[in-house]
Amino acid sequence: LSEKPAPAREVKVIRRKLNGYVGFANLPKQWHRKSIRRGFNLNVMVVGESGLGKSTLMNTLFNRNLYSASSAAIPATEKPSAVEIESLSADIEENGVRLHLTIIDTPGFGDAINNTDSWTSIVSDINNRFDTYLEAESKVTRNTIADTRVHALIYFIEPTGHSLKPLDITFMKQVHGKVNLVPVIAKSDTMTEEEIVEFKQRINDDIITHNINIFKPAQFENDDDDTILSTQDLIAKIPFAVVGSTTAVTTADDRQVRGRSYPWGVIEVDNEEHCDFVRLRDLLVRNFLEELRERTGNVLYENYRTEKLKKMGIDQDNSVFREFDPNLKQEEEKVLHEAKLAKMEAEMKTVFQQKVSEKEKKLQMSESELFARHKEMKDKLLKQVKVLEEKKSQLEKSKTTTGDGSLQPAQKTRKGFLR
Ligand code: GDP
Repeated sequence: LSEKPAPAREVKVIRRKLNGYVGFANLPKQWHRKSIRRGFNLNVMVVGESGLGKSTLMNTLFNRNLYSASSAAIPATEKPSAVEIESLSADIEENGVRLHLTIIDTPGFGDAINNTDSWTSIVSDINNRFDTYLEAESKVTRNTIADTRVHALIYFIEPTGHSLKPLDITFMKQVHGKVNLVPVIAKSDTMTEEEIVEFKQRINDDIITHNINIFKPAQFENDDDDTILSTQDLIAKIPFAVVGSTTAVTTADDRQVRGRSYPWGVIEVDNEEHCDFVRLRDLLVRNFLEELRERTGNVLYENYRTEKLKKMGIDQDNSVFREFDPNLKQEEEKVLHEAKLAKMEAEMKTVFQQKVSEKEKKLQMSESELFARHKEMKDKLLKQVKVLEEKKSQLEKSKTTTGDGSLQPAQKTRKGFLR
């Protein structure tokens, strides 16, 4: 039997002009106003051996003295042997836009003779930050959650000119799934241009060989040509060869610039021809701050959360990196909340059972006590009955011996007792 083809549904397309201005074109403006009102926050972790210029670079990036003079002046011999985690926060404002900046420093990294566990406290600090966020998210009342998660980790590579050291590789592999990893070549003014090109090549080869995930801005088809080109240029410069300096020096053509002065000339920090400092600033602050924050929340944190839920026995499908989906997020929150409730219920049941068995034990004890007392009383009574029986038989005996029928004092007593 051949089936009759279903009649094609007639679709009426009514084309109408919009009756005037609706207003959703204004949404970006609303978003802009809201963002300005709220301000932004950025948490940057810096890791690298001491003396590689971490504090100088951070001060250079945000153009202020974020590090106190005392912490920068500690000589290497007096630095802590274990890796410590130190947070420095500053509220900075530029043209009415507020940025709450937190630098998470890790003094002591790579300074020990045996650095096998150099990364453990750093990894656990990153995890703790995720856990704090997860806890705040699972609360019933969730107002604005303070985001203390690490949005970018700048890893300082020593300008050796060789290739990555085993510690660099091990550390990057420990953290690349948890943070936006931004490797930089420290103090690149100590190398020639050719040496930098070769060193970058070797580092990138190592990164590919060891499957290390580093942060690269996403490229979108609908971006304009200029944006596409500048993003490609920025990606091509990774790992950025940086120079830090907050000191103003005078160039040969009498300009005052931030830089480092050498007998052969001046290296300008803010000059793209001299180093990649400007690119690092573009990536961290000017162009990709929101992307760093978004990837932290939607990819890195979500992966961490899924793993955590799995460990708690709640399986989820996360075979692909997901885009942010509010329904999915709500569902996950529900699952998390239910898991918490189930745990609480199980705990309550255990406590209840404990209490019941304690009560039962007490009752059993008092029952056996009662039984023992009852037995004691019974024995006492039986003894008394026995004594009386004996007395009775004695009296009867004495009655038959006297035989005159007159009442004896003993009989009187017995009669009195028996009455
Ligand atoms: P940290 O221990 O990694 O925080 O290093 P510091 O920022 O305290 O810098 C250690 C020393 O290196 C200081 O004397 C800085 O002036 C110097 N320094 C910092 N950045 C650079 C740089 O880019 N190039 C050069 N040549 N020296 C630098």
